[in-house]
Amino acid sequence: SYYTKAKFFTSAPDIRHLKNDTGIEVAFAGRSNAGKSSALNTLTRQKNLARTSKTPGRTQLINVFELEEDLRLVDLPGYGFAKVPVAMKKKWQASLGEYLQKRKSLKGLVVLMDIRHPFKDLDQDLIHWAVASSIPVLALLTKADKLKSGKRKAQLLMAREAAMAFMGDVTVQTFSSLNKHGLPELERILDTWFGL
Ligand code: GDP
Repeated sequence: SYYTKAKFFTSAPDIRHLKNDTGIEVAFAGRSNAGKSSALNTLTRQKNLARTSKTPGRTQLINVFELEEDLRLVDLPGYGFAKVPVAMKKKWQASLGEYLQKRKSLKGLVVLMDIRHPFKDLDQDLIHWAVASSIPVLALLTKADKLKSGKRKAQLLMAREAAMAFMGDVTVQTFSSLNKHGLPELERILDTWFGL
C-alpha cells in the first residue's frame, strides 16, 4: 500500500503553528482512546508511527507524517478528556475551527469514534465545522471487532442514518485495527482525497 511510505515529518505545539499549507493533507481526529493512533499505525503498517496509550489529558503535539512531498497525514490531539481545564478546551476548539476553515491544503477529515459510542457532542461539533467549511468527512467507527456481525451492521446503519443530519459530505465506515476490517475502504477514500 501507498501509505506504508509515511514518515514522520514534523510536530507542532498548536494548530496555528502548522506550516507547509501546500499540496494535500488529510487530518485524523477523535476522542482520546477512540483508536486513532492504532488506526494510523494500521494504515501505514508501522508499529510505532503514531504513539498509542498516551497520558490522558496531557497537552499533546500535532504530529505530521509525509507520504511524499506535499502529501501529508495530520494526527490531531485527542479530545474529550474530562480532566482538561475548560479554558484549554475552548482554546483548542477555537484553533481547530480555524484550522478547518483556513487550511487550504486540508482535503479531508477522518473522525474516529468507538463503534459502541458514535457521535458524541464533540464529534458532532467537529463534523459540523468540517461540513460548514466544505471539508469531506469520513466517520470511522473503530474497534468494530468488539461487536458481532449483526450488531456491527446495525450500528453502521444507525450511524449512516445519523450522518444524514449533518447535510454534508459525511461517509461512514466500520474499521478495526485488530483484524484490519475496513482497511481497504479507508484506503479507497483516502486515495480519492489524495488524488491517487
Ligand atoms: P487513541 O487515543 O485514539 O490514539 O487510541 P489508541 O490507538 O491508543 O487506542 C486506545 C485503546 O483502544 C488501546 O488500548 C488499543 O489497544 C485499543 N484499540 C485500538 N484500536 C482497536 C481495535 O481496532 N480493536 C480493539 N479491540 N481495540 C482497539
